[in-house]
Amino acid sequence: MKLTNILEKNGSKLNDAIERVKRVYKQDNRPWIIGYSGGKDSTATCTVVLNALSELSEKELCKHVYIISSDTMVETPLIIKEIDSTLYKMEQYGKKHNLPISTHKVQPQYDNSFWANLIGRGYPCPNQTFRWCTDRMKIEPANRFIKEVVAENGEAIMVLGVRKGESNSRDRVLSSHSVKTSDLMRHTTLNNAFTFAPIIDFTIDDVWDVLLNYPCPWGGDNTELFKLYVDSNANTECPLIVDEDTKNSAGSCGNSRFGCWVCTVVGEDKALSGFIKSGTKWLIPLLEYRNWLYSIRDDRSLRMKRRASGQIYFSAVKENKGILIIPKKGDRDKVEINIETGLDNNNDKWNIFDNKNQAIKFIKENKIDLSSYDDPRIICKTNEGYGQLGLGPFVYEERKEMLRRLLLLQKRIKDEYNIDHELIKKEELLAISKLWLEQGFWNNDVSEIYKEVYGEELDFVSDDIKLLGKNELRELKDICINNDLDFELIKKILYLEKNSYGLTRRDNIQKDLSRLLNQDYIHI
Ligand code: SF4
Repeated sequence: MKLTNILEKNGSKLNDAIERVKRVYKQDNRPWIIGYSGGKDSTATCTVVLNALSELSEKELCKHVYIISSDTMVETPLIIKEIDSTLYKMEQYGKKHNLPISTHKVQPQYDNSFWANLIGRGYPCPNQTFRWCTDRMKIEPANRFIKEVVAENGEAIMVLGVRKGESNSRDRVLSSHSVKTSDLMRHTTLNNAFTFAPIIDFTIDDVWDVLLNYPCPWGGDNTELFKLYVDSNANTECPLIVDEDTKNSAGSCGNSRFGCWVCTVVGEDKALSGFIKSGTKWLIPLLEYRNWLYSIRDDRSLRMKRRASGQIYFSAVKENKGILIIPKKGDRDKVEINIETGLDNNNDKWNIFDNKNQAIKFIKENKIDLSSYDDPRIICKTNEGYGQLGLGPFVYEERKEMLRRLLLLQKRIKDEYNIDHELIKKEELLAISKLWLEQGFWNNDVSEIYKEVYGEELDFVSDDIKLLGKNELRELKDICINNDLDFELIKKILYLEKNSYGLTRRDNIQKDLSRLLNQDYIHI
């Protein structure tokens, strides 16, 4: 007996949703892409869609349905295991019922993963104002997949588990993108892509009604999922984020059991602590690492005092009656500086200048290395008031420390808990190694740190690493010192030239070269 026959009698909202899905599916040949996150809303959406498809005739099953899950590669280990298992069951269900479905995981490229950005590029740990992770680890990979499907088929429809009434901002987004008189909404950024929300009118109770009172098409039940929400005492989840609007209306995806285990966007971790409370002890060291990342998130001393591009800038500081106020942020205390004396509330001396040129002259005369841990405590007057020397990426030594601690953690969970879970992939280590080379760090440190932790060589082959031997490097450094040249800059230029060797078109190289030669910090 069809599920809708049973439901008709009950007049369930699920019945309406299934009928609607069947109608919209049969309307055209545009393939569907369903976002499955493992949370309640996307599970309900998949339940509705798979039930609907199984009620269509072979002739009516006219187009393919891709079920995609985003895997940031730093997902909470137990959640990703659950998602893998569900995707497998869905795939089997499709085969058994001859449904045109397939499941896929979308991941960031290795050189754009969490670790490549944090450790390789030195990006600050994500926070509310600089949440770079969502774009790079969720939106970009999902969009790459959607674009491929669009390129192959002309158009595609994203099927999402969004609902009205979840939040005001979500409602605004939903209504602003509705295509009048249609079940579809425009995708906000991708041409030829639309979105369809089969459970848009469901309340939270409707969702749980579907999940707990009706059979799950791919087998099993949703009591574990329900427990997950009850345990975490939250209804938040991390939906498949496909654009800026869903990102903003979803709020922080880190504030849920479905967030990344490394998430520093939220003060208190929910992703790991719930599982630890329920007895998964091997996650404790992961939580400790995450908490350490959170504790260093706002530490000025660990960051370069210029941008990765070399730019020196000043970020606004508030002034009140002769006192400059740098507010408390994360673990960093509030600082108050007396402009007249230059002393702060800890009696530390600040260097306050009348303009940027004076500040830069001071940096030059005192040979201050802006890429080091030292904070020269520089403030200068700007057009808007006062500004403090702005921050750039994490200093290189700190990034090495992050990598060392991460590998030690990976080894520890294997040695102490017998858990073979890869926290960072070899491909990411290679990507970090290349990023470091590009930035002029030529000591082969990724391999060195790996060897220090594991006692064995890292088995990746990179001919980049042998650009110059130790003696040649030493000679190069001496030449630079004797001729007042910036050693880091010369290394970056050599690396650029090496990577461009043999290319006939050199216009991009000229651009890169000019970018390198125009970095602020080498002109002070
Ligand atoms: S869970 Fe946190 S780290 Fe992961 S993508 Fe969301 S905000 Fe970023």
